[in-house]
Amino acid sequence: MLIVTKPGISQETFEALLAEIKRQGYTPHVSEGESHTLIGAIGAPPTPELMEHFRALPGVDQVIRISKPHKLASWEVHPEPTVLDFPTGRTGNGHFMVAAGPCGVESREQILAAARYVKRHGAQMLRGGAFKPRTSPYAFQGLGREGLELLAEARAETGLPVVTEVTSPDLVDLVAEYADVLQIGARNAQNFALLKAAGGSGKPVLLKRGMSMTLDEFLMAAEYVLSEGNPQLVLVERGIRTFEKATRFTLDVSAVPVLKAQTHLPIWIDPSHAAGTREYVTPLALAGIAAGADGIIVETHPNPGEAKSDAAQQLPEEAFADLMQAVRRLLPAVDKALAVSA
Ligand code: PEP
Ligand code: MN
Repeated sequence: MLIVTKPGISQETFEALLAEIKRQGYTPHVSEGESHTLIGAIGAPPTPELMEHFRALPGVDQVIRISKPHKLASWEVHPEPTVLDFPTGRTGNGHFMVAAGPCGVESREQILAAARYVKRHGAQMLRGGAFKPRTSPYAFQGLGREGLELLAEARAETGLPVVTEVTSPDLVDLVAEYADVLQIGARNAQNFALLKAAGGSGKPVLLKRGMSMTLDEFLMAAEYVLSEGNPQLVLVERGIRTFEKATRFTLDVSAVPVLKAQTHLPIWIDPSHAAGTREYVTPLALAGIAAGADGIIVETHPNPGEAKSDAAQQLPEEAFADLMQAVRRLLPAVDKALAVSA
């Protein structure tokens, strides 16, 4: 339920209200407005009696039932858009970011080369998987800890924060030691133990939509991260399974406005995994931006022909540079700005 406090409520009354919310078994999430303070009391659906009880407490103006099952992700509980800040840029509320890099970290030369040119062409974040969730157990599984160390080296040289995937709850501590942002992949988007562990890590989380997830399910997965007390979350539409085979997945562009209507969280597009083929990556990225995305995460490889995973969809440097040009041209039309990498 949502508790709206009276204007000018004293600190003491406010503290007493928070204590009562907790005593009733709810977790308070406070958001300060201009004249009112909103407290999202998160927990089981409240009985009418409990809502009456809160209405009668000092300092309470209104008690409203939150209609959405995804409460912390909703505008009701959090009326301001969430903005995530990084040393190189911001995402959300008109701020746009590009994360780019190879599908997987394969070698020192490869990740350093990619980090240097993605920065040069204006990306604000470096991507690269150290732990790869592969459909086949015989396929390249990533370099593991060594991959994380290489990402840290690339960050030290370029200043780009790094986003990398964490594939199981027992790897969260290790990945969080190195990464600036924990990626949870499409195949793990409903791994609830992983969502909770990542939520508890204190690191920002980039959550991909599962390939057969409805948007409601996606928002409930977000709720698992948020309910661990982690507000730094980005949702990524990366394509869903449909009957269409011409692309690897079908980019659900409509996910962007639909999610934005439901949540304050930044919404990104991953055009690479949706396209599956490099020639479609830029048009899909632009479609996502036109639909209102707050960022993109794109795969690019210094030598895509030799990539150990997702070779067909990774952009070579020149194509990545062209993508960045096109993004820069489009952003002003949607009232968004891309930070210039430091
Ligand atoms: C990836 O980013 O390389 C990846 C595996 O993405 P997804 O989880 O969206 O398939
Ligand atoms: Mn990939």
